[in-house]
Amino acid sequence: MSNKIIIAIDGFSSCGKSTLAKALAVKLEYVFIDTGAMYRAIALYFLRNKISFKEAAEILKALDNIKLHFEYNAHTLKSDMFLNGENVELLIREMQVSSKVSEVAAIAAVRDFAVAQQQAMGQQKGIVMDGRDIGTVVFPNAELKIFVTADPVIRANRRFLELQATDPSITMEAVAENLTHRDHIDSTREHSPLRQAPDALVLDNSHISKEEQFDIALNWAKERIASH
Ligand code: C5P
Repeated sequence: MSNKIIIAIDGFSSCGKSTLAKALAVKLEYVFIDTGAMYRAIALYFLRNKISFKEAAEILKALDNIKLHFEYNAHTLKSDMFLNGENVELLIREMQVSSKVSEVAAIAAVRDFAVAQQQAMGQQKGIVMDGRDIGTVVFPNAELKIFVTADPVIRANRRFLELQATDPSITMEAVAENLTHRDHIDSTREHSPLRQAPDALVLDNSHISKEEQFDIALNWAKERIASH
């Protein structure tokens, strides 16, 4: 396929965006970029180094010391997130980071830092990027924008099962609370709040399988690639 496009996938927390983005990227032989991982890695750095979320100078200095990069992992068929040369892919999924990441991602300087890198990654097109502001801010001209939604209870349940596999002490209540908390901050923040782009196609996956979701999105992608 020679006409490479940009596919922007946005939506609330834990609604299956990354699963869909990864599957599309594998099928289309595109690069998949999980922008949430970037905000999570920045949050991990802030937590480790006790960076205040309010002190502008401290935040800028911290960002100066953060180098993010992705490295492809042939086992998971997606890229692992590296923070200053360290593979933090597993650490950034822990509740400690999940509970603070939205506060860090709401900081304007943090968003500028991450968005500039995301836009650079898309220069060659041929990418599937998932996040909260991809279709609205990072790539407002993306050829295909998908806004994924799912019932909050179903989302919490899916996330709980996923996290329980690595952390048996996790409770459903903690997971549901974290999702509500992140959705609230992400939708109400001043800078680049989570919004459905007016030209995004909505995909509600509450009652469809991953395979059905994938087929719908793949058809949309094929149409856009053909007409591009
Ligand atoms: O996608 P994921 O749930 O891993 O993202 C973690 C957090 O990073 C989100 O809750 C949100 O606060 C932030 N985020 C963002 N903009 C993006 C991607 C993620 O603000 N493009």
